[in-house]
Amino acid sequence: SVELRDIHVSFGTLEVLRGVDLKVPSGGTTCVIGPSGSGKSTLLRCVNRLQEPDRGDLLLDGESVITADPDGVRRRVGMVFQHFNLFGHRSVLDNIVLPLRSVRRLSKEDAAEVARERLAEVGLADKAPYRPSALSGGQQQRVAIARALAMEPEVMLFDEATSALDPELVKGILDLMAGLASRGLTLLVVTHEMGFARSVADEVAFMDAGKIVEHGTPDRIFDEPESPRLQQFLSQVL
Ligand code: ATP
Ligand code: MG
Repeated sequence: SVELRDIHVSFGTLEVLRGVDLKVPSGGTTCVIGPSGSGKSTLLRCVNRLQEPDRGDLLLDGESVITADPDGVRRRVGMVFQHFNLFGHRSVLDNIVLPLRSVRRLSKEDAAEVARERLAEVGLADKAPYRPSALSGGQQQRVAIARALAMEPEVMLFDEATSALDPELVKGILDLMAGLASRGLTLLVVTHEMGFARSVADEVAFMDAGKIVEHGTPDRIFDEPESPRLQQFLSQVL
């Protein structure tokens, strides 16, 4: 499980997270929705310690890791970004092999074996020798997902993983993510894809102005929104 307790983050006088509580049980999928600038990315960044909160606690499997070694947390929490963040001057295979060697300390041979398995899993076995730039956006995002999975994380974070993709490539990535959810990974997904949130999430959290204003099952959030802010947001995006 992953849990945030009373997380506060400010940049100067701007309060970006104003006391966020969120728990994703092991094997669960939570989608975070909300308007631009509401703090969704900042929230995810707190979970893998890319952002240090001013206040609050972060727990993995019930154990506080807010003061633990950030590298240790990142080993347990994989993250997939909107813009893939691959090493452009390295082959697809090396993009997965290098972190396996540095983070999981695998030998060259073992790292290559794991990397090829993960690439095959996302349907890209034949792309191993290419540079990322030779791949489509959807394929690059698959590589990024394969790289994160190769670390065998307990939790996977997705920050608008399909927002930079051409429309025809979006479904393939969403299907891949749905597959991870059904395999029992713990997923925390920031997304604008309301269809995905409705069909895959166990729980949906609506963020506005640095707070989770409302959360519940997809049916509750989408069919019976309570707060005017959520009602207004849904009327704009659905
Ligand atoms: P979007 O849907 O557009 O991605 P978001 O909900 O992910 O938005 P965040 O990226 O978390 O929003 O940003 C929340 C607010 O914090 C914004 O006003 C943003 O400008 C501000 N912010 C984020 N990171 C920083 C930073 N490093 N320094 C200063 N301000 C920041
Ligand atoms: Mg964002």
